Amino acid sequence: MGNKVAIFDSSLRDGAQAEGISFSVDDKLKILELLDEHGVDYIEAGNPGSNPKDLEFFARARSIVLKHARLAAFGSTRRRGIQAESDDNVQSMLLADTPVIVIFGKSWDFHVTDIIRTTLDENLNMISDTLAFFKARGKEVIYDAEHFFDGYKNNPDYAVKSLQAAVDGGADCLVLCDTNGGTFPSEVAKIVKRMVAVFSVPIGIHAHNDCGMAVANSVMAVENGARHVQGTYIGFGERCGNANLSTIIANLGVKANFDCLPADQYRNITRVARHIAAISNVALNERDPFVGNCAFAHKGGMHIDGVNKAAHSFEHINPDLVGGQRRFLMSEVSGRRMILEKIWEVDASITKDDAVTDSIIKRLKELEHEGYQFEGAESTFELVIRKQLGKYRPFFELGHFRIIGEHPANGDYGSSAIIKVKVDGTDEITAAEGDGPVHALDRALRKALDKFYPELANVHLTDYKVRVINGKDATAAKVRVLLQSTDGDAVWTTVGVSTDIIEASWIALVDSIEYKLLKLEEAKVAVAH
Ligand SMILES: [Zn+2]
Repeated sequence: MGNKVAIFDSSLRDGAQAEGISFSVDDKLKILELLDEHGVDYIEAGNPGSNPKDLEFFARARSIVLKHARLAAFGSTRRRGIQAESDDNVQSMLLADTPVIVIFGKSWDFHVTDIIRTTLDENLNMISDTLAFFKARGKEVIYDAEHFFDGYKNNPDYAVKSLQAAVDGGADCLVLCDTNGGTFPSEVAKIVKRMVAVFSVPIGIHAHNDCGMAVANSVMAVENGARHVQGTYIGFGERCGNANLSTIIANLGVKANFDCLPADQYRNITRVARHIAAISNVALNERDPFVGNCAFAHKGGMHIDGVNKAAHSFEHINPDLVGGQRRFLMSEVSGRRMILEKIWEVDASITKDDAVTDSIIKRLKELEHEGYQFEGAESTFELVIRKQLGKYRPFFELGHFRIIGEHPANGDYGSSAIIKVKVDGTDEITAAEGDGPVHALDRALRKALDKFYPELANVHLTDYKVRVINGKDATAAKVRVLLQSTDGDAVWTTVGVSTDIIEASWIALVDSIEYKLLKLEEAKVAVAH
């Protein structure tokens, strides 16, 4: 048995069944191309018979030449008591015109007799007939054995017979599904091992996360001989979600010696996860293993000191292997050494005894006293350091802005903003609408700067958090605004504090844009050298 594990992504099918997910056809095509580029082996994208959106997707997907992935359509076995060719649902799957067909069927006797209400024998015929129908039409056929583990625990003989029926129909892979997500890793290990011993057809795993063990179950299955793993790239799916493929791929391909992706693609895991979250319009869980922003973030002084001496003292892998970034969180506890590390990123010649080091520490303390917190807002902190070091020049100057709110909102937008800025002596005045004052201000500022800095076009805000910091003072309370921005690749966070929420947002917004422009400038200088 080799080390190649086929990766099967179902973000567009099982993932689309998650609460809060709604893909347009364009979104689906973008994810298809992204995962193909990434080197995923199979991409499952629904059933053309179930809705017109899927039909349109498959029609448009035909014009995309996939470099690596094979596209799969998904559907159930034929209904009881009819021929496969007379079943509309079976026929409709052919409309997808995909090289791969995934058929799911029943392995749990209770589901056969009580849910679809047919005989145990007829269910076996339904499985083998349906698979044979697609095999006769030249398809690669993957069989998803629904509720396999529950079925096996209830009636192992029948569960095995259901897989044999799939083999008789010509199945190219037998995928054991933990549909209800209730199976323990020890059970998965035992059952997968048995099935690998019984069948010569490759065994796969499809796990759900209802017990928080979908990744563990998938890894267990592979360690016991499964060579095909189904899941969704960032883990969304029915109820608590599907097995998270970004975690599984990193575990199997980076930490263990399995081959899941082309060798140069492991470094893109974080980027692909972020990109899928952005297309799907969900916030990536920042505590996700490997790909979350917290995955390599250190806060405790001892941890930071340890990592500086030897990274593996507090990191299980080198973050570069998955395209992650080590972060040292700013806080009062993390100490002088930590601040020096940050200063060295800007100017490596500064020492701990330099007067400017003291002035930076003093400024940091003042700002913390005002209500700033730099933990998770390293971009603003870098700008503070630059200002103290005299390595900062503003990219634009604000003339003034004015925000007008309308209640109730007139049409889509309830706010508009007018802004005047000056860049290198040139004034620019623009206006924009938004669905709130900060949104309107952000759009107006970006529009005003577009003429001078067209690179800002792909920057957008991904998160906006407001926290009241001294609640005792009632209306005089200060607010801290944290803004997270992205250009599609990098993610950075900035912070602003004021008694006025618009002012606090403005401070964070200016830092966000200046930070991006600063990084662009640095990249240009690096190329020029
Ligand atoms: Zn599922």
